[in-house]
Amino acid sequence: MPGHSPITILQQVFGYPAFRGQQQAIIDTVVGGGDALVLMPTGGGKSLCYQVPAIARQRLGHGCTIVVSPLVALMHDQVGALHEAGVAAAFLNSTLSAGEAQQVEQDLLGGRLTLLYVAPERLVTPRFLGLLQRLYERGQLALFAIDEAHCVSQWGHDFRPEYRQLAILHEQFPQVPRIALTATADAITREDIAERLQLENAARFVSSFDRPNIRYTIVEKRDPLAQLKRFIENEHEGDAGVVYCQSRRRVEEVAEALVRDGVDAMPYHAGLDAATRQANQDRFLREEGVVMVATIAFGMGIDKPDVRFVAHLDLPRNIESYYQETGRAGRDGLPSQAWMAYGLQDVVNQRRMIDESPAEDAFKRVQTGKLDALLALAEATDCRRVRLLGYFGEESRPCGNCDNCLHPPEVWDATDLARKLLSTVYRLHEKTGIGFGAGHVMDVLRGKDTDKVRQFGHQAISTWGLAAESSETELRSVLRQLVALGALQVDSAHFNTLRLTAAARPILRGEQTLQLRHVLATPRKRGQRDGS
Ligand code: ADP
Ligand code: ZN
Repeated sequence: MPGHSPITILQQVFGYPAFRGQQQAIIDTVVGGGDALVLMPTGGGKSLCYQVPAIARQRLGHGCTIVVSPLVALMHDQVGALHEAGVAAAFLNSTLSAGEAQQVEQDLLGGRLTLLYVAPERLVTPRFLGLLQRLYERGQLALFAIDEAHCVSQWGHDFRPEYRQLAILHEQFPQVPRIALTATADAITREDIAERLQLENAARFVSSFDRPNIRYTIVEKRDPLAQLKRFIENEHEGDAGVVYCQSRRRVEEVAEALVRDGVDAMPYHAGLDAATRQANQDRFLREEGVVMVATIAFGMGIDKPDVRFVAHLDLPRNIESYYQETGRAGRDGLPSQAWMAYGLQDVVNQRRMIDESPAEDAFKRVQTGKLDALLALAEATDCRRVRLLGYFGEESRPCGNCDNCLHPPEVWDATDLARKLLSTVYRLHEKTGIGFGAGHVMDVLRGKDTDKVRQFGHQAISTWGLAAESSETELRSVLRQLVALGALQVDSAHFNTLRLTAAARPILRGEQTLQLRHVLATPRKRGQRDGS
């Protein structure tokens, strides 16, 4: 009988000499019949955490492991790789014909499978649960592996209602150990996963989420397309990369502009027909140095090791999305960059998307909290990585490989200017009875003699001209920070007029100070790249 010890299986079946990170501990837990909740970044080696136990438990006479996965492409790839390693594996999903599916079911019942990958919606059908019941009664259900476990939580980035029903596995088959795995989950999502899947008592394994080879840079958005072109030209000429934009239209515009500039760029979004999407994706994967300009429709399950940069022209929804999207850079471990341009309009857009969504208030509150954490990261003047990892509950020291570590921004105390700005917004509303937009507020503060100022008699406002010596750039960054902090609201339903919120009070009263960066990150020329 072939050996059933995990290390023997790793070496003989998979051909690897040793386990990585926490793999050994996770595998030991599961082989021993315990439950596990595994948080490990993409590329960390999650698959082996259930594949090795599946083989071990099969060899110990416990039967077949059922792997729940929402990704059809991933099932296909993994089953192919397992076949090459000589492991009896199969999948059941909508791509199979009725006849093929029936054959798989027969193999399952006949005890001829070590691993079976199933889509969640199929797993919870009465028919499939009936098959599992028959195996269970014979003691031939070895393990349940629930991949992409964040899909069970509506706080995660990819909620799938079918995942909710997976709690049934524990209720119907209490003797079968379970392992749930995910690459991203902040604290609230983690607790939600444990609760929803009834894994409160499972052993938890949290790996480091650090991707040390990725350099994080967040610049202030001014002329984003020009900034992106400079970034690619100076630092990533001829490299493969992904540029994320929020809308399909923007994707098209940016891809065209890059092509005009001589960059080998292609668009990818859900509005393109399937054949074009597939063709563009294939070129990106196969050829070198292609830049994919895409909405977030692009990326799930894409495994290209040598993506040298991921650029964001628009703000993602939250830190988990940012982490996941930037994590597509540098899978090969070589120096790579995550670059983002961020501006006031991003804050306004993301806030509006939350406000206008039809979701319940509790949901909106959580989403707002998550957005605020991302804004704090974008506004940060200290190490980006410390902030990013801190969000996932991991403590670290300044990394030396982010924009703020490499070029510590000069900070200045913007409290006074922030108070002038807030009181201008207040006084304008008080005097005129209506709200005004950012442009007018700045004109008043800088003492500009515009038509609008004269029309409303705003020279009479006590803050008129109080910041005559401040530049528009300076004022804009104060304004953005105030919006990011939630002290000011931009009312997009009323011509983007500004409104004070309760959070403005401590700043107005001088109880809260504001530190802002002075100089904006300036692009470095090629050859000036630090550390490479
Ligand atoms: P994840 O699912 O966490 O994104 P994978 O399971 O796809 O990661 O593993 C990423 C890569 O690392 C794969 O190519 C896998 O074969 C490899 N790998 C995982 N564990 C080991 C190990 N112990 N030794 C060598 N390679 C490993
Ligand atoms: Zn840093």
